[in-house]
Amino acid sequence: VARMSSVAGPCSAESEAQVMACARALVGGVRLSYFRAGVWKPRTRPGHFEGRGEEALPWLARVAKELHVPVCTEVATAEHVMLAKRYGIDSFWVGARTTSDPFAVQMLAEALGKGVETVFVKNPLSPDLDLWIGAIERFRRAGATRVVAVHRGFFPFAGGRYRNAPRWDVVLLLRSRMPDLPIYCDPSHIAGKRELVGEVMRQAILHAVDGLFVEVHPSPADALSDARQQLLPEEFLALLCSLTNLEQQQLERLDEDAQLCLLRSKIDSIDAQL
Ligand code: PEP
Ligand code: MN
Repeated sequence: VARMSSVAGPCSAESEAQVMACARALVGGVRLSYFRAGVWKPRTRPGHFEGRGEEALPWLARVAKELHVPVCTEVATAEHVMLAKRYGIDSFWVGARTTSDPFAVQMLAEALGKGVETVFVKNPLSPDLDLWIGAIERFRRAGATRVVAVHRGFFPFAGGRYRNAPRWDVVLLLRSRMPDLPIYCDPSHIAGKRELVGEVMRQAILHAVDGLFVEVHPSPADALSDARQQLLPEEFLALLCSLTNLEQQQLERLDEDAQLCLLRSKIDSIDAQL
């Protein structure tokens, strides 16, 4: 877990203060691979917060410059790519709704071209492995050097424990079909509720994912999108810490630092419950 890549940040970039507070809290506690924040939000129904758009791009550029952490945002059109690149952003994720549309993926792949640093490709809404692989192939063929798959669960239709159903069998199949492909898990969009994010993280780690892609917000209850599933920065850090400790306990090498870390994460989680 300690070696695992972590991509974390709010569902949406809402204000410069929210973006900076979230990024500072995360960067202070963990070595982030990327800070994430959605600038253009694909909403299922109209009339909800659709993101700040171009106005939010300088906030992400500021995180990269001042906190020395790479940033990524979601793109769904060639215009998004052009605008994000103008602000120096060169890593992106492709959302589940977009991955489901080969025309959109092809257009994005051409717009990103070779200039993209990392492109995270979320699974499509339905458990169609070839559609997911097809999207990954389109980005690779267009010259993207680093493509990462992100499992964010599949639309369940009939309900269930989670907002989106995890399918670890599909993850294992993807790994067998593309052994060199890094596979991350987004436990936030699977869980749908903050109290279930930890158990999904644990399942992901048991399935040996290469990284986590997690929604974190400095004040989740006030979030303008996905308020129910976002973690406080300290909750996310405590979860990472407790999962690291799980590993260490299994290895029966619990040194003084690890014991402190374990106690601290327990206190944090009791605090969070209170
Ligand atoms: C997101 O990451 O905020 C998002 C909209 O994700 P997904 O495409 O997985 O629903
Ligand atoms: Mn979200």
